[in-house]
Parts: sequence; structure tokens; C-alpha cells
Amino acid sequence: MKKVGFVGWRGMVGSVLMGRMQELNDFSSIDSTFFSTSQSGQAAPEYVTNKTLQDANSIAELSKMDIILTCQGGDYTSAIHPKLRESGWNGYWIDAASTLRMKENSVIILDPVNRKVIDQAIDSGVKDFIGGNCTVSLMMMALGGLFENDAIEWLTSMTYQAASGGGARHMKELLTQMNTLGQTFTGMDQDQASDILEVDRIITETMNSKSMDTTCFSAPLGGSLIPWIDSPVDLGQTKEEWKGVSETNKILGRNQDNLIPVDGTCVRVGTMRCHSQAFTIKLKKDLSIEEIEKMISSHNDWVKVIPNNPEATRTALTPAAVSGNLEIPIGRLRKMNLGDRYLNAFTCGDQLLWGAAEPVRRMLNILVN
Ligand code: NAP
Repeated sequence: MKKVGFVGWRGMVGSVLMGRMQELNDFSSIDSTFFSTSQSGQAAPEYVTNKTLQDANSIAELSKMDIILTCQGGDYTSAIHPKLRESGWNGYWIDAASTLRMKENSVIILDPVNRKVIDQAIDSGVKDFIGGNCTVSLMMMALGGLFENDAIEWLTSMTYQAASGGGARHMKELLTQMNTLGQTFTGMDQDQASDILEVDRIITETMNSKSMDTTCFSAPLGGSLIPWIDSPVDLGQTKEEWKGVSETNKILGRNQDNLIPVDGTCVRVGTMRCHSQAFTIKLKKDLSIEEIEKMISSHNDWVKVIPNNPEATRTALTPAAVSGNLEIPIGRLRKMNLGDRYLNAFTCGDQLLWGAAEPVRRMLNILVN
């Protein structure tokens, strides 16, 4: 049995991963050891082979593993991965953090989309397999059929990204902000509450006051939105927006010569763990909606075309419908009045599943099996 070490298993992404692995009995086919940066020596969960938590900073202990899977974060990867490789460790490193994604000798993993790229990489001796950006992975699961058929000339993705992208503390801050606004409303006297403009004035005042906890987001998110995610990069883009073009093309194994242009505005909204995206897609040729639906729905087992009508959209194409679910609905498919080759689409997906835990879980199984 392969010796597999897990780091970051009790964080948010790690917990979702552990849940999926137990659900699918993945632990039965590996010799598992759990590592911690803060709790080494304590008891590991009962489903793990080796019952004591090991030190996640010990190169000697980590080196005993055939495969290391980490959801610990970028700082950990930056500190440990180079030391491990310098020590001569030649095992497989699977990582949910972005640190190594764009390195020449790593592959971004999303096997329903790029299994061929992954298999070729394993054959050619690549050892670092890195989970993609959540928004990019969800887009590629939704539009995989169009990419596979080389139907896209360029696309824009306008995103509606959940609080969970920032981690557990961000999700709690969103709820605290919503609670502050809710309590402000329920605390109004009858005269105020019956005058909607007065309600709105007081709510807006509260949103911009010190009673709104904005420690994580640096701005109110409950009742508002923030059109900036991550740090600035060149040409006025954010890093999150830059990942759209760079990671999409790397996942597809494309380079500067045959790059598919991808751009858009990434926006944080007050949802919990589902990212949504509105696409404008310029097609390479005029395909019918039926042909497009067929390409999309036949690409993988999780994507689901939602009919472009109000009932189906409200029932199946919302974060509320998708949360905790592996399905990737895509709907609002229609030709735009910009021209026959312009397609409109909207998708929604659980960013802790296909956006984080599921690609790394599946990569582990590819290596183990
Ligand atoms: P996280 O929840 O902050 O957990 C990271 C680590 O913090 C844990 O493994 C744990 O390590 C430590 N920790 C300290 N106190 C804890 C507590 N009370 N409960 C649980 N853990 C605690 O990190 P994350 O959001 O899962 O993100 C991990 C990595 O995945 C990051 O690189 C992130 O960029 C990437 N990623 C995140 C998302 C997302 O949506 N959040 C999506 C894709 C990729 P010890 O056991 O060693 O103390």
C-alpha cells in the first residue's frame, strides 16, 4: 500500500476532503499518516492508519511518505516543498494551494477536463500536481465540452464569488454582518419599519458604521458586494482575474501560441460556498443551441444543462440549490443579440467540492490506483 501523508486535513478544504474520502472509502486503499503544524503527538482521527499526528515541519517524517497531500496553504508549501525536494525526496506532492500552480514542472489537476495532460505528466516524471483556482475549475467543468471541441474563440467570465473563498473566518464574518443588519431592522419602531425609505436609510447607515464587522473583507459584504478579489497585478487586473487566462490555458496544455483569451471582473458576493459566473462566449463558428447543449452535457458526469426558463433557473441554477452538491448546472444558454457567434451562459458550483477538495481527492486516487 502507498504511504500517504496528509497536511491541512482539519482546515476548511481539508475537512471537506476528509468527508469525501470517508464517504467513498478511499482510506481503505492507502497507508495514511496525518501531520499537523500545531498538534503533533496528539491522537489522529480513528479512520487513519497511523494513530499519532506527526510533525508537519519534520522533513525526516515527511520523507517517509510516497505521496504527500496538503491543504495547509501557500505559506506551508513555500516553506516545506523546496526543503523536501532539496533533501532528495522524490515522492508525489498534491497541493490545494496556488504557490506551485504556474511552475514549469507542475501540472494543474482537473481530471475530467485534462486527464490526458495528467497521464502524460505522470509518464514523463512530473511529481507536483496542484489543484486549480476554484473559479477556473468550476468554469472548466461547466464549459468542458466547448473547450474539448475547440469551439471557443474567447470568453469573458463575470463572477459572483462566495465568502468561503477567503476561508472559514470570512464565512462567519458574512453571517455576522447579515445578523447586524437583521437586528437593526427588527429593532426599528413601527413608524420607521413601515417607511421603506427610512428602513433603507438606517440599513445603509448601519452598513457603513463601526457596528459592521469588516475585519476579513475590509468592506461590508452583507447587503453589498466587493468587485475586487486578491491583489493587483498588471494592466489593472486582480490576481484572481489573471488566473482566468493563465490557469485555463495551462490546464488545457495550451501555450502562448494557441492561447484562448479569457478575462472578466471577479466579484465577491454574500453567498456562503458557491461561486457563480456569467459568461459571454465568442464561438469559433455559428453552432445551434442544440449542438452547444449536446457538447456541454456529454462532456462529464457532473455538468447539467438547465433549460432557459424562469422555473428551471430558479429551482436549479442558484447557490441555494447547488451548495454541498457535486453537480455543475449551466443554464441561461442563448445566442446574444451581439451576433450569431456570441453565446450567453450562467453556471453555479460548490467551490469547496469541485473548486478545491474533489480534484485533489481524484488525483490521489489516480496515483494510488
Ligand atoms: P484553513 O481552514 O485556514 O486551514 C488551514 C490550517 O489551519 C489547518 O490545516 C490547521 O493546521 C490550521 N488551524 C488552526 N486553527 C484551526 C482551527 N480552529 N480549525 C481548523 N484548522 C485550524 O485553510 P483553507 O481555507 O482550508 O485553505 C487551505 C488551502 O487551500 C489554501 O492554500 C487555500 O488557498 C487553498 N484553497 C482554498 C479554497 C477555499 O475556498 N478556502 C479553495 C481552493 C484552494 P494544523 O492542524 O497544522 O494546525
